Amino acid sequence: MLNIDWKPQRNSSTALYRQIVDYIKEKIGNGEWTVGTRLPVQRELAKIFEVNRSTVIEALDELKADGLIEGRGKKGTVIINNTWSLMASTPAGNWEHYIKNGIQQPNLPTIQIINKLEYSDNIIRLGTGELSPELFPEEMMKNVFSTISNKIKSLGYERPKGLLYLREIISQHIKKFHINASPSSILIVSGSLQALQLISMSILKPGSTVLVEKPSYIKSLHVFESWGTKLKGISMDKDGVKLNEILKNLDNTTSLLYTIPTFNNPTGTIMSQDRRDDLLNLCTRERLPIIEDDAYRELWMEEIPPDTLKSRDKNGIVLYMNTLSKSLAPGMRIGWVIGPEAVIERLGDVKMQTDYGASSISQYAAAEWIKSGLYEAYLKKLRRKLKLRRDITIKILEKYFSDIALWNIPKGSFYIWMRLNSKINMTKLFYRCCKNGILINPGYMYDFNTNYNIRISYSYASIQDLQFGLKKLSDIIRNSHFDLE
Ligand code: PMP
Repeated sequence: MLNIDWKPQRNSSTALYRQIVDYIKEKIGNGEWTVGTRLPVQRELAKIFEVNRSTVIEALDELKADGLIEGRGKKGTVIINNTWSLMASTPAGNWEHYIKNGIQQPNLPTIQIINKLEYSDNIIRLGTGELSPELFPEEMMKNVFSTISNKIKSLGYERPKGLLYLREIISQHIKKFHINASPSSILIVSGSLQALQLISMSILKPGSTVLVEKPSYIKSLHVFESWGTKLKGISMDKDGVKLNEILKNLDNTTSLLYTIPTFNNPTGTIMSQDRRDDLLNLCTRERLPIIEDDAYRELWMEEIPPDTLKSRDKNGIVLYMNTLSKSLAPGMRIGWVIGPEAVIERLGDVKMQTDYGASSISQYAAAEWIKSGLYEAYLKKLRRKLKLRRDITIKILEKYFSDIALWNIPKGSFYIWMRLNSKINMTKLFYRCCKNGILINPGYMYDFNTNYNIRISYSYASIQDLQFGLKKLSDIIRNSHFDLE
């Protein structure tokens, strides 16, 4: 959808329709509106430009006569030409052709919609996997930035593995999770998603298979598949991923296992300590490397989660990832990967070819957050606030959903994995919610099979919005029950 925030000037000596023609020509000419772009319908354009519809028609007729746009019946008016495409040698001569060519697959349509609608006014975000602005530690962040502004003496590119000072601090910090790793085995990444991208691009063979929990966050992206790797889903029970299922699915294409053992996204499952030990033994025996994604570890509520796989990994088979995104601020884009030095060197080399390193300012800020002790102090308070939000949200669910859904009570992280009792069309439900001003994360985004789950997040929306939005969701499900089947 085009964003048009321009209007012709009524007091100008140039006719209104001519100003509109010039405006649209400029947009096409400078490449902002490319070939294939659809213009709003005439009625809409008249509203945007605050002119009569006849003025719009006059302008569009001229652009048509110039061969720049074409009416396509119900599909509206589309840009069909620009100077560049007239000169281009490709028969298609437009970007549409290129857009479909790249290696990285597009997001799922549901995610594309979520990514856009999240920023509209008056939308209630019931699924967002992010801390609410209400939970942002504004004062502490100010302190951190004021301290680093006195410390920073230059802002050059950093080493391939990231700011040494930050890696030294992380090397100390992770002792808390019983992980021993020297700064040379740590790579700073621009968010842990980048770690997955780097792993995918740098160490996996196209045609190989990655085993992942079913359901899993990673299924909602195409990080692995875009580089020619297939995902295979492995079921879980209450203790985590099922080991006999891993064995059943192993073959000579299997390259690694990706797991979120602590508060699996989206189900909240915590892998038990025994299962972790058995998994590590199995993977060591089968020579199957593991990616341990520990993004949510710090967000426990009642008790500290079991030890990381990495802390018990004596053979270097675990690539461990963590991030500040879930516990502090995703906008910092700071995460880290820990693994055997040769792998970290390889990932660092590819990272240098990708972006020359994560933002140095963010790296200094992350170092200051952890080193100063502010991070620990903040986490203590955050856990209490998240627990309160969880408890309130469970109460809301009990009030509005107890006869139409089932859910778990998470012991940490952000999500409640709620399963609807009836088999309704979840895609239709998603669109109906969007129309009604609420955004949900349907479970199908994370799964290999159809499911009737919704990932409810209690971390983002205000309590008031959670109350209002969840009631509305319950109403939509109840009222639309028949035509959503
Ligand atoms: N891993 C998991 C399990 C996540 O849920 C997310 C964010 N949704 C990420 C990684 C990516 O986080 P970031 O790139 O912001 O560190």
